[in-house]
Amino acid sequence: MPYRRSSLLLACVLCLAACADEERFENEEALRRYCGDDFAAVERRVRRIVSGLTLEEKVGLMHGSSLVSDQGAYRTFSDPERGIPGLRMVDGPRGVSAGTGAATAFPVGMARGATFDPALEREVGAAIGREARAAGASVLLAPTVNVLRHPRWGRAQETYGEDPAHIGAMAVAFIEGAQEHVLASVKHFAVNSIEDTRFDVDVDLDERTLREIYLPHFRRAVVDADVASVMSAYNSVDGLYCSENPHLLRDILKGEWAFQGFVESDWVFGTNSTAPAALAGLDLEMPRAAWFGTDLVTAVQAGEVPEAVIDEAATRVLRAQLCYRLDEDPPVADDALLETPETVALAREVAERSLVLLKNEGGLLPIDRGADVSVVVVGPLADVENIGDTGSSRVAPSYVVTALDGIVAAAGPVTVAHVTGDPNDVDNAAAIADADAVVVVVGLSAEEEGEGLIGAGDRASLALPAEHEALVADVAALSDAVIVVLEGGSAITMEGFLGDVEAVLMAWYPGMEGGHAIARALFGDVNPSGRLPIVFPASEADLPVFDNVSLEVTYGYYHGYRHLDHEALAPLFPFGFGLSYTTFAYANLELESATIAPDGVLRATVDVTNTGAVAGIETVQLYVHPATSRVERFARELEAFAQVELAPGDTATVTLEVRAEDLAFWDTEANAFEVEATDYVVEVGPHSGELPLGATFSVP
Ligand code: BGC
Repeated sequence: MPYRRSSLLLACVLCLAACADEERFENEEALRRYCGDDFAAVERRVRRIVSGLTLEEKVGLMHGSSLVSDQGAYRTFSDPERGIPGLRMVDGPRGVSAGTGAATAFPVGMARGATFDPALEREVGAAIGREARAAGASVLLAPTVNVLRHPRWGRAQETYGEDPAHIGAMAVAFIEGAQEHVLASVKHFAVNSIEDTRFDVDVDLDERTLREIYLPHFRRAVVDADVASVMSAYNSVDGLYCSENPHLLRDILKGEWAFQGFVESDWVFGTNSTAPAALAGLDLEMPRAAWFGTDLVTAVQAGEVPEAVIDEAATRVLRAQLCYRLDEDPPVADDALLETPETVALAREVAERSLVLLKNEGGLLPIDRGADVSVVVVGPLADVENIGDTGSSRVAPSYVVTALDGIVAAAGPVTVAHVTGDPNDVDNAAAIADADAVVVVVGLSAEEEGEGLIGAGDRASLALPAEHEALVADVAALSDAVIVVLEGGSAITMEGFLGDVEAVLMAWYPGMEGGHAIARALFGDVNPSGRLPIVFPASEADLPVFDNVSLEVTYGYYHGYRHLDHEALAPLFPFGFGLSYTTFAYANLELESATIAPDGVLRATVDVTNTGAVAGIETVQLYVHPATSRVERFARELEAFAQVELAPGDTATVTLEVRAEDLAFWDTEANAFEVEATDYVVEVGPHSGELPLGATFSVP
């Protein structure tokens, strides 16, 4: 942990200091985790500074400085001479925000979710954190970790997927990486998964659904990754805006999870009141004072808000600044650290790892790199820079490699023709019919999906845009070697064309180097290893209703693969699915112990063999469900995953670990999680739809 105070020497000095005056703090363990070993000295300093401020000055710490950003960064009050360094915040989830200038554009969060590789995601977090700091910022407004409840959500691309365990693992990795350089702000707390009504919608859900589906990954961001700040969501939950929701902010986040950082509102419309928001635990209104300026001072003077609430918020905002040493080691802008060869190479590696091969009939892929081979590239997205929406997460790299650029660059002796216009024109039709492979690049773009108000908002449908689907049909009628490359932020339905094409590669929004990644997979330089972090349904009717019109919506217990399992509906492609140019076999599932204590850890091992002809990466997935239960439970839930890279013929023993506490359900009567004493079924395999190995264990 190079960034926060943590050196042994400092720790000893401060331990002596702390022992000398024997001062004790509430939540010492949580403070130590949040702030590092010298938390006590920092805490004393914060308190000294806060106690020397007037009410107006303390309230001045509780809001941003301006509606508009300063070169992409949103600032909060600073007075370095009095020990208040202030904060400079930039977005976001796929790289440093366009507002600051050129920066590395990584694949979007959903693409990175498809890597199922937390170690790689940690590198991404570190790279974006380093660039944020090099852009002069101290806070990175990322990661977005909201559960994808429905793939029509306009910001689907920003998050990691639909499964809390998977999102949590990726988020912890990103935050740990980012916080080597800056403070991370995990967002949007909570249950934020609709764009078109995002400022006003009230989501009604029961406590069990909230606890089991919408919060576990936020908890991990706090408890496992010690995230520096949490951004509240625009929407309300059970009748109260998230920024003035004491159950979310006080009971759960600051109470049960002992969060020691600050809660900031989402921008502009994310704060909706003065006293209720302050009382509920909102510490910082962003990006300017609409409710937390003089109105908050007045509310304190009128006795509506105790001054202790202001002290707490000011303490949290300043604590974050001093724990992260913004006083001693403030970020210094340095253009040389933006878009470096290393970060650009990482963006390409991640793009390569995120590609999900969904269909490959007759082994059309990979394309041979022979001198007599010809490839035709078509499609409205073939030569378009398509790296995500135009909302707050927009990144402006200095270049973007399109799919066509990448294919031309990687083709070697292969003849590549870019065919535009009507595929049925005589010349075009002949070129398509004669080609050894036809790559059709279609999908979604910022025109169909994105952040509300500053982007396209929610998708109108799960289908491809009609003209894209028509193009695929035309091309499929002309060729038996059709490879569809899909771009987009979430699931796309394919009833209209899947049976007529030979191969489908899901490329998401693959970042500035995406075209190279796509091409290298098409030509076999990269063996696709991405896995779907969301289920792809056969049709939208198979999912819970997506209502982005009503201002009151109800979320049930089931969504995504849990919903399809519950309804016994076959997905088009299961959660966790992805093909490879090789094949893998699973054998010898063994559990270390047949009995696990409720606070214990289950260890499972399984042998995985590469049974094909090329090296490949396999994501081993472990799902669990109780054999019996006194309450309704999911048919299966992802509890662990691990990756292994294997040469042809090689076998490796893969270990997976599950904390028994993660198997708990929320007991609504006890108002607590309970790890039920029962038998549990473990299923292991390549994806949620194919789990060939099983075993059982029990919790006594
Ligand atoms: C978004 C946040 C973002 C903020 C600042 C809001 O509209 O919802 O995710 O961090 O703007 O740009």
